[in-house]
Amino acid sequence: ATPMSIMVATGRGARAGVLIRDAQALERFAKVDVLVLDKTGTLTEGRPSLTDVVAFGAQDEARILAIAAALERGSEHPLAEAILAGAEDRGAPRLDARDFDAVTGKGVRGTVDGAAVALGNARLMEELGIDMAAAAAQVSDLQDAGKTAMLLSVEGLLAGIVAVADRIKETTPDAIRDLHAAGLRIVLVTGDSQRTAEAVARELGIDELRAGVSPEDKADLITGLKDKGLSVAMAGDGVNDAPALAAADVGIAMGTGADVAVESVGVTLVKGDLRGILRARLLAQATMRNIC
Ligand code: ADP
Ligand code: MG
Repeated sequence: ATPMSIMVATGRGARAGVLIRDAQALERFAKVDVLVLDKTGTLTEGRPSLTDVVAFGAQDEARILAIAAALERGSEHPLAEAILAGAEDRGAPRLDARDFDAVTGKGVRGTVDGAAVALGNARLMEELGIDMAAAAAQVSDLQDAGKTAMLLSVEGLLAGIVAVADRIKETTPDAIRDLHAAGLRIVLVTGDSQRTAEAVARELGIDELRAGVSPEDKADLITGLKDKGLSVAMAGDGVNDAPALAAADVGIAMGTGADVAVESVGVTLVKGDLRGILRARLLAQATMRNIC
């Protein structure tokens, strides 16, 4: 492609909120076969809100929520924000946590009123040896509704469930339909649970997904696809996704997210609107077709 045609394409993209980094990103994007999409903050708004609080045993729901909020005050995860806002809205009493510890991709733990407490996913509970049987049916139901369910343990016993829901962005369904129609293979990848991911994938007509995936595993997944000779684009938000964006042939960042290392990003979607991916793809292909 000529410098002129590249300038025209990147200029058109920019006016539509699609920032294409350079000629190389454009050239690579024209050849992409597989698009890997992060769930939270990419397909969804990334601003979850509290939906359900369930209490088991001695403590009531207000206390479960209060303990969860006390733990999440130490976390910067979007899930923490949702729980803190929910606790305030519902007037849960304020408690304070000590010995706070964040367990990446799993949850948070600490002590509240002298009791050892933990909040997070099933992997965290397994690690702590907590019996989750009493919560299994309700957790499945919440996840089938597309919600993220977190388990709360107090002194080694299951004490409650806290669930949040994150809305799918208004622009996402159209974007997915058109990207499929354009012949791209689409894979959803997330640190969230299999059932929650399945519910979101089902709603969007995405038939390939990998759930329970840590940030490093996301990068490995992409490298694995590339090793099969596929050309891979990865769209994600947040610092979590930086290794995966860097591993892809083209990294696509949500302009709304936390600053991802700029060198690893080929395309930035200014408003996080996934319809920009197809626009970038068409611009890239038109540029390559005309000139090469
Ligand atoms: P994603 O890939 O969707 O951005 P993460 O890898 O950040 O997700 O987290 C994966 C899972 O770990 C979450 O779905 C949640 O169950 C659990 N988790 C992570 N951080 C927290 C937290 N601060 N509080 C409760 N649970 C958490
Ligand atoms: Mg994310």
